[in-house]
Amino acid sequence: MSSRSFPQFPVVDASSRTGFAGNRLDRIAEARTGLSAAEVAARPGAGFYLFTDDGAVLSGPEAAPVALHDRAAAEYLGAALDQAIVLGFDDGVPRLAARIPGLSDGAAAWTRDLRSLAVDGTLAPHDLGAIAQARSLISWHDRHGFCANCGQKSMPSHGGYRRDCPACGTQHFPRTDPVVIMLAVDGDRCVLGRQYRFAPGVYSCLAGFVEPGETLEDAVRRELYEEAGIRTGAVTYHASQPWPFPSSLMIGCFAEATSFDLVREVEELEDVRWFERAELSAMLAKTHPDGFLVPPAMAIAHHLIKAYADGGVV
Ligand SMILES: [Zn+2]
Repeated sequence: MSSRSFPQFPVVDASSRTGFAGNRLDRIAEARTGLSAAEVAARPGAGFYLFTDDGAVLSGPEAAPVALHDRAAAEYLGAALDQAIVLGFDDGVPRLAARIPGLSDGAAAWTRDLRSLAVDGTLAPHDLGAIAQARSLISWHDRHGFCANCGQKSMPSHGGYRRDCPACGTQHFPRTDPVVIMLAVDGDRCVLGRQYRFAPGVYSCLAGFVEPGETLEDAVRRELYEEAGIRTGAVTYHASQPWPFPSSLMIGCFAEATSFDLVREVEELEDVRWFERAELSAMLAKTHPDGFLVPPAMAIAHHLIKAYADGGVV
């Protein structure tokens, strides 16, 4: 019998507490072959998440915005429905994403960037999750209009989940870029850093892209050495978060420090330092005497820090 124990149902993943994690759409990935977005967009009840370059298109009051638009509204707002993407189905009803080239001044709609929507929490988690999926896919189409193999123009297929090159036959798939984000710990203290662009007082976990040919554990250890100058040993996974800027997956880990003298990477970090576990609780409660803060609850960094502050890990 395995010594590994799984949590009891219903499982509540640590990941589910992060922003953008509430997507409940049935992605019907097995049924995308030959799927026509135009045909799905014409089905009764089809709903559309819409975007401009500035963010998600919303209607209704700002305190309780509506993110999902019916076909009539999408057409009225000028959505490019001929380039719609099938995100999936919600209780059998299709959900799609589409771009609006430009929102007219008279339209009864407005835009909001995804980060702000995740922070202010005015959208239902399932809408925010679907918007993250939609934003990543729209961004992928925007940046991958030409075949990376032969340079010819490629065409959307599979309901928008693939692009095919008519010239050389190469199939192109949406990308997801893995990023490790981690808390290096040593008993009752851990390492947090401050990027130059952070709001005053905010410290967060260090993070970086996973490189080709690298395990997650090695990426965690490499990034901590590059950014903070410390060596780490064991690495454990905690949670992940879709991060639609434009298409990352944040992979949150804890790492056990095996060296302790910090050397800051000056290009990226304004400061890096050890924090005592008790300090983290004050930062989470916004009562730290020096005014230090952690990222908002939508961010996976918040949940890594909180899990460690609560003593639930390592
Ligand atoms: Zn090609």
